[in-house]
Amino acid sequence: MTMSKFFTERLASLEAYVPGEQPRDRKYIKLNTNESPFPPSPSVIAAAEEEAGRLQLYSDPECKLIVDKLAELYGVDPSMVIVTNGSDEVLNFAFMAFFDEHRTALFPDITYGFYPVFANLNRVPYEEVPLAPDFSINYKDYLGVGKNVVIANPNAPTGLSLSLSEIEEIVASNPDNVVIIDEAYVDFGGESAYRLCEKYNNLIVTGTFSKSRSLAGARLGFGIACPELIRDLNTVRYSTNPYNVNRMTMACGYRAICDNDYYMENCRTVMENREYTRDKLISLGFNVLPSDANFLFAESPDVSGKELYLALKARGILVRHFSKERIKNFNRITVGTRAEMDALLDAVREILGDKNETSGN
Ligand code: PMP
Repeated sequence: MTMSKFFTERLASLEAYVPGEQPRDRKYIKLNTNESPFPPSPSVIAAAEEEAGRLQLYSDPECKLIVDKLAELYGVDPSMVIVTNGSDEVLNFAFMAFFDEHRTALFPDITYGFYPVFANLNRVPYEEVPLAPDFSINYKDYLGVGKNVVIANPNAPTGLSLSLSEIEEIVASNPDNVVIIDEAYVDFGGESAYRLCEKYNNLIVTGTFSKSRSLAGARLGFGIACPELIRDLNTVRYSTNPYNVNRMTMACGYRAICDNDYYMENCRTVMENREYTRDKLISLGFNVLPSDANFLFAESPDVSGKELYLALKARGILVRHFSKERIKNFNRITVGTRAEMDALLDAVREILGDKNETSGN
């Protein structure tokens, strides 16, 4: 779509983030946007219903209920917590608050596609560091760089993690720059860096209720950092939208933390299904990166990434394909229920079988 004649020149070249498909044309097995396959716990659904009766009132701009509960969960002071409308919002607030033409951004070439969009939106120059040939992040590339660093840990769409000690070296070696560690997927086997926020005044750890806590549609994210950084992020939040977290979402988030055991059990199930699916895909000839997240990143020697994506879609299964040159033979497959994974594997076998037939093998 072309822009209107009124669109500001400042944003004329902005390329918006393209979210994964949310199709309405038919019912798909949705393995394309890393949502949880499990519904929210019953008390979360009840909390949403109850709070709906109070929607005539604005939400609490201090978000005290959920800030305090998150602080309790992580064992930090509430002054070290901010909550936002999804973690995308806290990431954007961080770009607004701490990045500019002098404090530029550094992140991997293959990572969450929103980072360059936030940089461009906020007119922040950025540099991308190529991942190693095995798709891992070489943490040494980020030591003493004098730039603000953004790292998803585990990284997306690869699922590979850095260790806590590697993260700490990055944070310690860039004392005059902020380091953002995006832990959207940490509950699926990664190691959180939030404890380091008490030791380092330049670290921001972000998290989300969208993946491990089955609340993608409610939009609830958070940041943990030293009180000074949180204060700056709140200055941006109050200058953008003080009611960024709505009443129903806040009530749901609170209940979700109360029901932590339910969600952590679901994470364990997802991790089991992940290893099950990875083994099966490997036995079908796929190259599948080891994953600490709720998705697998996989390529087949027999069928191109795009072809597999389209063939799965035709069979009612959605996965995420990226056209970026280096990863265009891969698909990112969200880990769902065992039944969903079996349906995926059946479809993959069928697609590979059709391929072998037509090639005369
Ligand atoms: N970080 C990463 C690495 C992600 O993959 C996502 C999900 N698209 C997000 C942050 C943002 O998720 P949300 O805004 O739903 O919290």
